[in-house]
Amino acid sequence: MAGNQNSLDEFLALVPVENFEDQYRGDITVDHYFNRPLERVLVAEKALLAKETKSVAYFSMEYGLSAHSYNAYTSKKAESPKNQHTIHRVFSNLRAMDQYNRINAKTRFDIPIYSGGLGVLAGDALKSAADLEIPLVGIGILWNKGYFKQNFWFASGQLPAQQNWDPWSYPGLIPLKTRISLPFKKETIHIRLWKYYIFSFEGNHVIPLILMDSNIPENSEFARTMTDSLYRSDNVDWKILQRAILGIGGMKALKQLGYSIDIFHLNEGHAAMAFAEAATSQGNPSIDALKEHFAYTCHTPVAAGHDRFHENNLRQILPDRLSNLIIQYGNDPEQSGMVNLTLLAMRTCKYINAVAQKHGEVTRLQFPQFKERIRAITNGVHSHTWVSQSVSSFLDRFKNEIGDWRKNQCQLKNVLNLKNNQAFRKGLWDAHQENKIYLSTLLKNWNCNPNVFTICWARRIAAYKRPSLILRNVNRLLDIAKKTGPIQIILAGKAHPQDGLGFTFINDILSAIDSLGQHRDLLRVMMLENYDTFFAKILTSGVDVWLNNPLPPFEASGTSGMKAIINGILQMSTLDGWVVEATHYDFGWIFGWQHQGNQIGDEHDLHLEGDSAQLYETLEKAVGLYYDANHNGIPNVDSEWISKMMNAICAAGFFNTGRMISEYDKYIWKTMLEKNLQC
Ligand SMILES: *Cc1c(COP(=O)(O)O)cnc(C)c1O
Repeated sequence: MAGNQNSLDEFLALVPVENFEDQYRGDITVDHYFNRPLERVLVAEKALLAKETKSVAYFSMEYGLSAHSYNAYTSKKAESPKNQHTIHRVFSNLRAMDQYNRINAKTRFDIPIYSGGLGVLAGDALKSAADLEIPLVGIGILWNKGYFKQNFWFASGQLPAQQNWDPWSYPGLIPLKTRISLPFKKETIHIRLWKYYIFSFEGNHVIPLILMDSNIPENSEFARTMTDSLYRSDNVDWKILQRAILGIGGMKALKQLGYSIDIFHLNEGHAAMAFAEAATSQGNPSIDALKEHFAYTCHTPVAAGHDRFHENNLRQILPDRLSNLIIQYGNDPEQSGMVNLTLLAMRTCKYINAVAQKHGEVTRLQFPQFKERIRAITNGVHSHTWVSQSVSSFLDRFKNEIGDWRKNQCQLKNVLNLKNNQAFRKGLWDAHQENKIYLSTLLKNWNCNPNVFTICWARRIAAYKRPSLILRNVNRLLDIAKKTGPIQIILAGKAHPQDGLGFTFINDILSAIDSLGQHRDLLRVMMLENYDTFFAKILTSGVDVWLNNPLPPFEASGTSGMKAIINGILQMSTLDGWVVEATHYDFGWIFGWQHQGNQIGDEHDLHLEGDSAQLYETLEKAVGLYYDANHNGIPNVDSEWISKMMNAICAAGFFNTGRMISEYDKYIWKTMLEKNLQC
């Protein structure tokens, strides 16, 4: 259907684009929103504005959208070089190569408004909501300086830098003329709204993501920096104001844009102040009635993940109507004078969910007063974003046996019926090998070899995730390599700039790498700079084994392993998070200390000695099995390895956001009812 001037006028009336004539006229036309149909955007906007639509607003501090690769927009404008830092250093035990070589990513990077798994989950949730045609709008913040850019320096490890980028030329991202104002005690902060539209995988349905930005001339210099850096934590005012912008600003933005919202879903406690804004805005709504419209997802048992503020700090910043309510509902009975945003969210949201079944048990132990209301909805990943091109087109060749897994990811469980199909087994190996060759090409200067056993640990560097566990005893590692065959180890991850412990893990990794310089033919270790969704996609499809060794029970879910299983990557994991529910799939190996009983335990007691010993035993088995399956590039089609790869893909039929969002809708949002996916 060809568009006409009316549809463009209608769009601009609903979505007043700032600088339209100068900046966007070439990309938003009567037919097109960048390279996609404008008409779909209009349909989605009108549905969200209609009073009769039951809509959901999803609040999250961060979003990892893989906007550079999944449903990527193209623009008629030239790409800004600012959005393309493509060069990454490597720390390896082939030091001579590190000095002169870089990995060249050759692509625009993802919109830098995330730090790790929480943000990627939020992005994946929006994409699956689009696929399932749920009337939903996302709310977040446009971080003008990103999270941070990780630079590696010899001898000093990680040096954080600002992530500069240009939102004005990022394809698909548009600034609105719309402003909201947040009258805080010291000054009023004005916010510009941006929009980014998330299309479903088939391109039919659209979800708007609203991003708030304080970097506008109306604001003081101080206020302009408020939305610079995600999780900036060197100053308490900053932390409070960032959360106030998300929660309070988010509510005002929805109102200003005229969306009629039924459920406000808070992805983590950061947005908990949204309730205070709703409860104290005009009309004095009943608090109890309001709670019915709020839902909260708790993402971590780790203390640092729960925001606490002194009530005096809140009173100094927020208008009294808000601070009074926040203190009333958020006060921590165990720490007088303190407000805990987790308690605020739990007391004000009717719906509370943890992110895996085990995490549900742990959250009920941590917050027994709410245990009847704490449900667990296990996380997932967006299959279309994380499946590699080679695996997805390979799976399509077996559509008759598997079913339409793109539409309903649960169908992936049918891969089990192909266990005796030699063509499938061989084809899966080849599809995986293609990904491994791609990774090896990217790392060719480090002599990465696609026929060598390759294991990867990559995620945020945090103590409880035990980043350097596999490098704890390098002599033991060398013994395994001598006995069973060569090993490649890839590591990547950023430590939050204020996390001192995180830095020590990076230093541990670097000194272990240094000590292995003599043995680079048996054991190649490579640590990649500036882990992001670009690397996440390549690594979760291009290695043989995905290593996940958090200290139980502190990994609420973990999601990177779910990206790996859909690509047939085996898992080597401690028993924690989502993995607790997945052991029956037999897609790898479980090792390490296990959590039992009614105490959460101490997140600083890392069990490094015992668990690294168990990791090495497990690794020895895995390397042996790998070289049974791969004799110098010739696959053994009947090998147990390939059976495990198939089990991994079956498990991906459950651990995806299609199933997760269907459960959110079934138990919490209730917008679709009969149309949800059944797994
Ligand atoms: C998926 C993802 C994560 C999450 O990893 P976990 O294993 O859940 O800790 C972190 N960072 C990036 C860039 C990701 O894509």
